[in-house]
Formats: sequence, C-alpha cells, structure tokens
Amino acid sequence: MKVHIHTFGCQMNVNDTETMMGLLEIAGHEMVETPEEADLVIINTCAVRQKAEDKFYGKLGELNRIRRRRHLIVGVAGCIAEKDGKKLLERDDVDFVVGTRAISRVTEAVSKAMKGEKVAILDDHLDELNAHVARRRMSSHHAWVTVIYGCDKFCTYCIVPYTRGREKSRPMEDVLEEVRELARKGYREITFLGQNVDSYGKDLGDGVSLAKLLMEAEKVDGIERLWFLTSYPVDFDEKLVDVIAASKKIARSIHLPVQSGSDEILKKMNRGYTRGEYMDLIHMIRTRIPDASISTDIIVGFPGETEKDFEDTLDLVRKLRFERINLAMYSPRKGTVAAKYYKDDVPRAVKSRRLQTLLELQKRINLEINGRYLGKVVRIIGEDRMKDGRYYGRTIRNKIVIFESKENPVGRFLDIKVERVTPGPLYGRIIWMEGSNQRLEHEPAEELGVHT
Ligand code: SF4
Repeated sequence: MKVHIHTFGCQMNVNDTETMMGLLEIAGHEMVETPEEADLVIINTCAVRQKAEDKFYGKLGELNRIRRRRHLIVGVAGCIAEKDGKKLLERDDVDFVVGTRAISRVTEAVSKAMKGEKVAILDDHLDELNAHVARRRMSSHHAWVTVIYGCDKFCTYCIVPYTRGREKSRPMEDVLEEVRELARKGYREITFLGQNVDSYGKDLGDGVSLAKLLMEAEKVDGIERLWFLTSYPVDFDEKLVDVIAASKKIARSIHLPVQSGSDEILKKMNRGYTRGEYMDLIHMIRTRIPDASISTDIIVGFPGETEKDFEDTLDLVRKLRFERINLAMYSPRKGTVAAKYYKDDVPRAVKSRRLQTLLELQKRINLEINGRYLGKVVRIIGEDRMKDGRYYGRTIRNKIVIFESKENPVGRFLDIKVERVTPGPLYGRIIWMEGSNQRLEHEPAEELGVHT
C-alpha cells in the first residue's frame, strides 16, 4: 500500500513520523511524497493551539476532495488523536486513530483499516519504542532521539499532559544503544527530545539524569554534537550546567521557556518559578557557560494580563537579551485549567499589539547580537540545501548561517567567514570545508571569542 504521512507540530511529532514510516516500510508499505500518490494518508496532528487544530481540519477537507474521486484510507495520529480518541471515528472521513503512546501499533491499525474496520488504538505501548525499532530518518547526519515521553507539569494553559500522558523515560542503556547505532551509520548530530527533557530519568529511580545521559553520549565515537529540547526552568539544575560547560560536543544552545515576565501571570500559569528565580537561573548559566545562547518562549495575552504585566515581560526581555523568542498569542485549549477557570479577556487586538511590540524589540536585540559576528569566522555543520540552491548550517550556538558551495557540504564541518548579518540568519563564504580542498584562507574559527 502507498502511504503518505503529513506531519504537523513539534520535533516530537517529526520523530514519531520517522518511527511510523520505518515500521510501515518494514511491513511492506511504500512511503510516498504526496496524498495524490497515496492509497492511505496518516495525519500526525498537533493540538497545542487552536490554529494547529484548525489546520488538521483543513487537511481533512483537502483529503475529502480526493476521497470524493477515489478510495483513500485516512488515519489520525498525534495529539488530536489522543485528545479526541474514538470520537474521531464518528466522522465519515476518518478510518483509524492511533494515539501518541501507541504509534508502535500503527501497522496493526493500517491492516485493520485496509479490511474496512474502523479502529482506534489508544493504549500505552511506549515500551515497544526501543533502540531496535526501525525508523526512517529524514536526515542522514542528524537524528532526533526521544528520551522521555509526556509531561507532569500541568501548566494551566497546556494540553500536552492530557495528550502525551505522564512522564515516562526510556532506560539510559536503550537510548545509548540507539546513539551507538546512529554513530555506526554515520550520524554526527543527535537531539535528545522530551516535552520536559530535563526530567529525563527521574521516573526511573536508578539515578540517571539528562546530565548523565549527555556525558555518556558524548563518549560515543563519531557523535560530534549533542542538542536537547525542551527544557523546563525548574528542572534545569547546576549539574546539567556544569556538564554542558565542560563539554566540547554539547551545544551551547539552551532553550528555556519563560512564558511571561510577570509573577502574577506565572502563578496563574502554574509555571512553578518566579520572575526573579528565572533571572537568577539565566545569570547562573551565563556565569558558568559564558558562550551560552539562550532562547525562550513567551505567550502574550494570557487571561488577566494587564499592561503592567506585559511591561514586566518587555523589561525581562530587555534585561536578559535572549537570542531567539518563539512568540504566541494565548488561545484557550478545551480541557485545560485555564480554559475552564480563566476568562480569555484580553482582546485580540491587544494580544496582536503586544506580540508585535515584542517582535520588534526582539528584532533589534537580534540585530545587535548578530552584528558582533560580522567579519568573524564561525564553525558550522552543513545542514541542508535551500530551494534557491544555497546551503545552510548552524553553529554550536544555534546560529543559522547561509552560504554557497560547489560541493555538497551537508553533514560536514565548515568554517564560514560572516560577511552579512540580519536579525535572522548570518551570511558568509566558506573558507574551509572538512574533507575538501576548498580552503581559501586560513583563519581560526571563533564564535564571539569562544572556539567552536
Ligand atoms: S512544561 Fe508546561 S508547557 Fe511544557 S509541555 Fe509540560 S505542561 Fe506543557
């Protein structure tokens, strides 16, 4: 059967898609690029915001147009599958549902759907997702590796604890086996994933932690860079900071969502820290890892957010000077505490203005930070080719650098002289490429005074 998977949402979903593709291929199905070529389409959904959910229903509409012309089986996986479960099967346009903890059973769901059975597999089979599961990776040099599933934090606005379940870590030896296998296949970069990746190991009770996992993973020959996503400020401890500081392979990119600069709003969000505690954490990280690149997430327009609360957020951003901010306007998610108890009382126009104000502030900060790269040489790993034929890669501080190359630089180390900066990517030219004779000048790579 020809199968197409459409993926919405976060890297966790991307990794789940890779797993489903691997399992389906082993079962004899052929993966295709578009729904038009497919006999069966799986939509791997995201429920984090209403907009994401709307996109899913838009996609179902598109598939319905194909279904009116010919037979097409449609399955739903991901967070909406988990949230709405069997209810989705009441729809004429959904044939099967696979929950976030049941993706290892995707082939079973597909077989039943091929026989005309409407099926929902929603129970917990996470233990089956071990190092030996076939995964069809999107990249040949970088791999996503999910190390912990679920989240126990219950931030009041967030649907994830309801769609991904409680925290469940994979045994460290199993994760390391996957890392070693990836290294054997030539992978050089790994990103450890978890909704709350710093919680890794806490539920296992055997003393393992993200810090320990990173320390062990960096010993694996062939692995050159290690990343991890997403961190939760309360669980980001000094031990982890020290491990990053001492490492040459762990990325200096730390994503620590703050969500608001107002104590009042943080409390209503149930984030578990105050503005002062968050700022102290960032200062501690920057003291011990002077080249740390810290990014964050902020939600504007949370219920009850006053101009003063928003001013506190602006002030925090001015003081901490993040290197990137993912901004979102609050939208209530049915089933969460915030949707149930707090009125969505900040008008859309006010949310929009606050978002715009933060965007402009962040743009100025980005341009100032990136300006310091002008004329410097940075070391990157080539990541991919862009539509216009140029390539991009990223530094160990997660700066994206765009450049031209005659040879394929993907997966190789390169030194790039930065010739133009923007609030987003840096632009430059290659002065050295691993395994190539394309060395044009000899200058040591540096990243704002720090060797990379
Ligand atoms: S830490 Fe909070 S925002 Fe992040 S996934 Fe868990 S509940 Fe959601």
